[in-house]
Amino acid sequence: MARPLIADIDLDALRHNYRLARDLAPHSQALAVLKADAYGHGAVACAHALLDLAPAFAVACIEEAEVLRRAGIDKPIVLLEGIFEATELERVDALGLWVTVHSHWQVDALLSFRPQRPIPTWVKVDSGMHRLGFPVVQLSAVWQRLSAASERVGDLHLMSHFATADTLDDAYFRRQLALLDELAATLGAPTCLANSPATLAWPQAHGAWNRPGVMLYGSDPLQGANDASRRLEPVMTLRSEIIAVRDVEAGEPVGYGGRWTAPRRSRIGVVAAGYGDGYDRHAADGTPVLVDGRRTAIAGKVSMDMLTVDLTDLPDADIGSQVTLWGQGPGEERLSVDEVARHCDTISYTLLTGVLPRVPRRYH
Ligand code: PLP
Repeated sequence: MARPLIADIDLDALRHNYRLARDLAPHSQALAVLKADAYGHGAVACAHALLDLAPAFAVACIEEAEVLRRAGIDKPIVLLEGIFEATELERVDALGLWVTVHSHWQVDALLSFRPQRPIPTWVKVDSGMHRLGFPVVQLSAVWQRLSAASERVGDLHLMSHFATADTLDDAYFRRQLALLDELAATLGAPTCLANSPATLAWPQAHGAWNRPGVMLYGSDPLQGANDASRRLEPVMTLRSEIIAVRDVEAGEPVGYGGRWTAPRRSRIGVVAAGYGDGYDRHAADGTPVLVDGRRTAIAGKVSMDMLTVDLTDLPDADIGSQVTLWGQGPGEERLSVDEVARHCDTISYTLLTGVLPRVPRRYH
């Protein structure tokens, strides 16, 4: 029998989540963010599944766009971080990509390049994230330079990223949005501002385009605080099986460093999944898992190829029992990747993108 660890990818759930993002913003177009191999779900398969729904896709860099083009994806693809060196513009042009510009050298490169057709360009302004983007005071000069070069630069959009959209009713978010509204009005610019939390909860931030990412994969950046986000469906189910069972006496430690000690005579199940598969080694004792659809928890440190769970209250669980590490259980029960992430002191994004190539993806 093959090692039982599998990432099941439910492409209907992906389509459902995309429709939710689209329907929440009827006056915007939603591009699907497929960077980091579609947050670990497989960018090519996800792009194909969304091809008839999404008018455009977004990735971080040209290499990710090339993978999609090679797979026959012919929709517009935006490079969210733009080019990393001027020579990439040849490939941008040949592949028909859209670029983001956030630095002056990128604008200079664009304006001295002769494309076959004008390159649609998103101008990123730093409205408060203080990561990428032109300072507000430089925006209008950049915009004017680009608008004056219509033989090289195609449609222009104003783009920015929110630092705190996942905090409902946040003053900083409102400050960023007010600034962006003013800038867009001054420039007469169509915008692309909203990530998943803003798509879900901030209709005021919806622009000509929205850029939902993590919500497409069923993770809820608002942690259940919003009606719409509760309708998201998990796309990835990371599942494995119990491969060994042992009894340990009260007081006996389990696993590296003996972090977990049996509080009573206990039954321990060994699961084929570990940090060598991308399961987070920071998972604390008590991190939930489903065994045959019933909740129990991790007991002991995660190893490279295995982890251990407490089966004491599940006497009929045995070798071969199905273990859901996150996602849809075999019955009605679900285990959200967001809940698992909280126990690992991280966010769903790192768990999903962290599932390593050793884990086969199975699409249905
Ligand atoms: N836009 C940009 C520029 C991003 O960096 C990201 C994600 O990191 C997204 C959109 C999508 O964000 P989310 O996954 O929170 O929807």
